[in-house]
Amino acid sequence: RLEIRNLTRLFGGACVVDDVSLSIKSGQVMCLLGPSGCGKSTTLRMIAGVDMQDSGEIWVDGTLICDGAFTVPAEQRGIGLMFQDFALFPHMNVADNVAFGLKGTRAEKLSRVEELLAKVGLMRLIDAYPHQLSGGEQQRVALARALAPRPKIMLMDEPFSGLDNRLRDGIRDETLALLKEEGTAVLLVTHEPEEAMRMADEIALMRDGKIVQRGAPYNIYNSPADLEAVGFFSDIN
Ligand code: ATP
Ligand code: MG
Repeated sequence: RLEIRNLTRLFGGACVVDDVSLSIKSGQVMCLLGPSGCGKSTTLRMIAGVDMQDSGEIWVDGTLICDGAFTVPAEQRGIGLMFQDFALFPHMNVADNVAFGLKGTRAEKLSRVEELLAKVGLMRLIDAYPHQLSGGEQQRVALARALAPRPKIMLMDEPFSGLDNRLRDGIRDETLALLKEEGTAVLLVTHEPEEAMRMADEIALMRDGKIVQRGAPYNIYNSPADLEAVGFFSDIN
């Protein structure tokens, strides 16, 4: 379970993330949806531990991991990351890429790698190198790699934006199924309302650093908080 309280981040006097509070349970997908520049990636970076808030708190499973002064290092937070440009290591084969964050014996690692590659349907490519894979296959390997260490929380920043439309729908559905199966709490950033409608249990609409509305996709779509939110959803049909 991830909980952020009153998270605030200033850049040169501008409040880029402004008093944001959210909580996400295991097995739940929350979509942070909003236009370019509204502060989505900055929010994710603070939760990941690669940027530090000016004020506010981040809690994981009831434990404080960062309050702007005290901070647990990124690699000890038990948080998985999947970003659009989070490339595979080109000099490692698929098996080594997926095993990268794993601890344990060789056999233990291999068994987890095989389990995940089977789930994403890529066992036959276990010895291949990234340059031998299609974009969609690389994306699946990246997902397997992110999930391998069993993160309790997964942060995804526009993870499907590099894929063509035809591939994207399939991979979105597969990803969602796998995340649900693993019981991961997910915070997914997107600026596409359609993606949020498809993936989210709950949507948080963000604008100018603030959460302006939160709720089930159906509710937000049917009763947007204000005219700007209406405009934002109007491209979906
Ligand atoms: P997009 O959908 O385009 O990815 P976003 O919602 O992820 O947008 P952020 O990347 O969080 O937006 O940026 C929010 C604002 O903060 C932008 O105006 C950006 O220019 C500014 N910003 C982000 N990082 C920094 C930084 N390190 N220094 C100064 N300003 C920054
Ligand atoms: Mg961004």
